Amino acid sequence: MMIAIDGPASSGKSTIAKRLATDLDFIYLDTGAMYRAFSLLAIEANCPSTDSICLAKLLADFNISFTREADGQHVWLGDRDVTKEIRQDQVSRLVSEYAALRPVRQALVAKQQAFAHQGAGVVMDGRDIGTVVLPTADLKFYLTASVAERARRRYLENQDKGLSGMSLAELEAEITRRDQYDMGRAESPLRVAEDAIVIDSSDLSLDQVEQLMLDQVEQRMIGH
Ligand code: C5P
Repeated sequence: MMIAIDGPASSGKSTIAKRLATDLDFIYLDTGAMYRAFSLLAIEANCPSTDSICLAKLLADFNISFTREADGQHVWLGDRDVTKEIRQDQVSRLVSEYAALRPVRQALVAKQQAFAHQGAGVVMDGRDIGTVVLPTADLKFYLTASVAERARRRYLENQDKGLSGMSLAELEAEITRRDQYDMGRAESPLRVAEDAIVIDSSDLSLDQVEQLMLDQVEQRMIGH
């Protein structure tokens, strides 16, 4: 069974996707982490989004992997743990630029599709999972919430993890800018897949969102 969860920045996709994958014993892939890891590499290599030759070299050597650790999923580039670094403000600011590039998307989507076939069940979250990566997914969700609520949640999460120095207003501006960029790009823009179930979580708890999704999974399983 394949479950796709798409939606705008900080809508809680990863948190919910992880929970679902744990409950259902499915594998989980955070595709945003892949775009972030590639962006981190490009930033470190001083490779701007306009330098296609530099980017092609990085893509050829892009060796990303995931491990499950006691404190959650870790992201690796070769033997380097980049779990924390990919959440840095600088990466958040630039990731959408790199993610809008066709060669980057082609390479990462191919990896994502290969990953989906590694387990009996997969939960994948991102921007184009239901529309491009897994168009035949059994279940597609589009998870959203108001910008104010998403910024508030991200702010609390950052404080909790000691991750970012951005104020609430800065986060709201950053989220709005990234959404506009992701929705407006020519390559696989963020949009609601025709057969997606839209969930607005502005007034819902994590447990409520998860229950809504689990109900759908159950219905789908009975139907099969
Ligand atoms: O999910 P997260 O917010 O970490 O994603 C970071 C960025 O990666 C997004 O803003 C978007 O530009 C890009 N992305 C994408 N397609 C995906 C997942 C993420 O373009 N499937």
